[in-house]
Amino acid sequence: LRVVIEADYIVIGAGIAGAGVACELAAHSRVVILERESQPGYHSTGRSAALFSEIYGGDVVRGLSRASRPFLLHPPEDIGGALLRPRGALFIASEEQRDQIDAMLASPTVTSHVEGMASAEAIRRVPILRPECAVHVLLEPFAHDIDVHALHQGFLRVARRQGATLFNDAEVVAIERDADRWQVSTGDETFRAPCIINAAGAWADGIAMLAGVAPLGIEPRRRTAILVDAPQGIDITPWHMVIAIDETFYFKPDVGRILISPADETPTPPCDAQPDELDIAIAVDRFEQATTMRVTQIRHRWAGLRSFVADRSPVCGYDPQAPGFFWLAAQGGYGIQTAPALSRAAAALAQGHELPSDIVDNGVTERSLAPRRA
Ligand SMILES: Cc1cc2nc3c(=O)[nH]c(=O)nc-3n(C[C@H](O)[C@H](O)[C@H](O)COP(=O)(O)OP(=O)(O)OC[C@H]3O[C@@H](n4cnc5c(N)ncnc54)[C@H](O)[C@@H]3O)c2cc1C
Repeated sequence: LRVVIEADYIVIGAGIAGAGVACELAAHSRVVILERESQPGYHSTGRSAALFSEIYGGDVVRGLSRASRPFLLHPPEDIGGALLRPRGALFIASEEQRDQIDAMLASPTVTSHVEGMASAEAIRRVPILRPECAVHVLLEPFAHDIDVHALHQGFLRVARRQGATLFNDAEVVAIERDADRWQVSTGDETFRAPCIINAAGAWADGIAMLAGVAPLGIEPRRRTAILVDAPQGIDITPWHMVIAIDETFYFKPDVGRILISPADETPTPPCDAQPDELDIAIAVDRFEQATTMRVTQIRHRWAGLRSFVADRSPVCGYDPQAPGFFWLAAQGGYGIQTAPALSRAAAALAQGHELPSDIVDNGVTERSLAPRRA
């Protein structure tokens, strides 16, 4: 006899998106979370650069990031300790890139978060920078490192404490709809609920197609990162993150080593992303061009998928063509830093409420998040 588990919400995917919305919903509803992997952070969530920046991304992302700041700075007690560590981000430009600094400063959502910095001061703070690559510099003082593991595990822990059930090793393989319920099968078990929350990251369009819902055209793009040794005898802990103004690379301290990314965005089918040798070589080359360091050994390398729709804002809302089918996807390269606000937005909209007012006050509307908004 097949066991059928009834719930109010079936969340598909237990990365930061699924964990966050489950945490918000579990206080009022019966929630099950289905995760294909044995480790919920195995895909994008466990592979990020862990940065919080309020000027990264477009206006919707910036609004969600600003609305996430209070939670990240002062997390609720049950989520646990400090989630942010001061980092500061330096945006560096050569003489020829001056107009790109000006273009960045033209945006009102940037100017209040950055200050100009003299080249000499930037080099004092990150002494490997080549002066000609950091002629013009902007500092985002409030940029922070996020403790992604603590945030993600905190969401999952609180969700479970409130009664949500997380099923790991539970790949959703079939989805059907009867009169008023979705029926979701993992092969071993069947789950029934009036609402599915599609938080399947790079696989979100695939989940829609399993359910007979038209895909949104979510495009996963691979991004590569490597870890190299710090220069000998230098404490790199206080260094800022350094981001090329044209976003062709970035680097930052990462537990005693230097994390470097070529900021690649290669369209890739959903998969267990692996780094490509060429992207690693590009990362090393751009880093060496901008600094006085030579990379002799790569200690660790990885890649992950950042998934986008055309306007590069997340998708959060019910599908107008499929009752009870809720999208929470396309967080791009911003899914960790926006998770606190986006989880609240998703929970409110999934329950048929309005967006929380602090999120609206930050310029985010239901329409700007809506699936099929184009
Ligand atoms: C190199 C890199 C750097 C980044 N840097 C930052 C950063 O500095 N700051 C920031 O905010 N963001 C950053 N990001 C982006 C961030 O990691 C993502 O936006 C975020 O992790 C997306 O979370 P998610 O839960 O949607 O996806 P995921 O973590 O991928 O979770 C989706 C889950 O769905 C599961 N799933 C898929 N299909 C099924 C199925 N059929 N059945 C059951 N489960 C299924 C998957 O197994 C997966 O665990 C970075 C990403 C990368 C790759």
